[in-house]
Amino acid sequence: MPHYDIEADWHLLDTCNYRCDYCFFGADVLGSKLKSYATAEAWSSAFDRTGKTWLLHLTGGEPSIYPNFVELCSALAKRHLLSINTNLTNASIVRFARDVNPARVSFINAGFHPEERDRRGETTRFIEHADLLRKHGFRIFCSVVATPLALTTFDEAVERLSRARLYPVPKLFRGNFAGKSYPLAYTERERTMFRSYAQRARDFYHGEGDVWGEPPSIDVFNDDRYLTGLPTYGGRLCSAGERFVQIHPNGDVFRCGGTGLQGNLLQGTTVFQSGASVCQTEHCYYFCEKYSQAETAPTGFQTKRSSVTNLFARRMSDWGFKRSP
Ligand code: SF4
Ligand code: SF4
Repeated sequence: MPHYDIEADWHLLDTCNYRCDYCFFGADVLGSKLKSYATAEAWSSAFDRTGKTWLLHLTGGEPSIYPNFVELCSALAKRHLLSINTNLTNASIVRFARDVNPARVSFINAGFHPEERDRRGETTRFIEHADLLRKHGFRIFCSVVATPLALTTFDEAVERLSRARLYPVPKLFRGNFAGKSYPLAYTERERTMFRSYAQRARDFYHGEGDVWGEPPSIDVFNDDRYLTGLPTYGGRLCSAGERFVQIHPNGDVFRCGGTGLQGNLLQGTTVFQSGASVCQTEHCYYFCEKYSQAETAPTGFQTKRSSVTNLFARRMSDWGFKRSP
């Protein structure tokens, strides 16, 4: 595993070419005009100036439609490491496969989004891009948001993705559907299906996690652990702010969850915390799992909305997220 000093959940943009029903973003946000706040060189220099080696998780929106996406990734990969969440549709993926050094990319999480893909008839392009990335040496896996509908049609997704030598990893659905709040609303039958597909996905990708000596940060392979509720992170000691930060499209750096502003990367004003401190907010649980210390707070599960969760939900709504966390 190449060394890195700090990881970032980099929300590169809001815009996306897809309109998945379960997306946190509403159509108005997903359809917003593409906007970049700096050139590839300026972003790259801004990260270099921190003197740290970064593992940058690029997400959105859809990162591959970002202006000069390939130039950005190529420039960043010279000194830093990348991981990417993508729907694998944009033509930039072809140049990405050719021009970016796969040894500097931790993983590519290719979201399949079956309903939206069917609507657009884009399965073939997904498979071609996945094949190309694998041929160029990239580590890639595929995930499917496990809505109740996706679980009932999961076998079809398995069949279709076998052409790309991929297996869909079921990703925990967090949001509202038919008046119910997930993941708590999964039925026992849905949980059984989820566990079964998750186990098959682990078997399929067995050994992939060893390529870099650590699992991917977005570790969807173990989402079946959270079918009956996510752990509570509030009160735990966490190294977010020091070993992990969240970056917004304009370069603002937060400890996590859109709180704890630590400066702006492009303006060269970022400061980093020293040592772990107590968690007081909420963020994507994959990063919470990676950077918090479970033994530093009583264990519990998010069985209902906490005041912290409500605050987080309001903040998400400020950013344009439409679903409850
Ligand atoms: S879930 Fe992902 S691919 Fe689907 S609309 Fe949202 S950002 Fe785009
Ligand atoms: S546990 Fe999660 S929400 Fe809490 S400080 Fe760490 S990263 Fe942030």
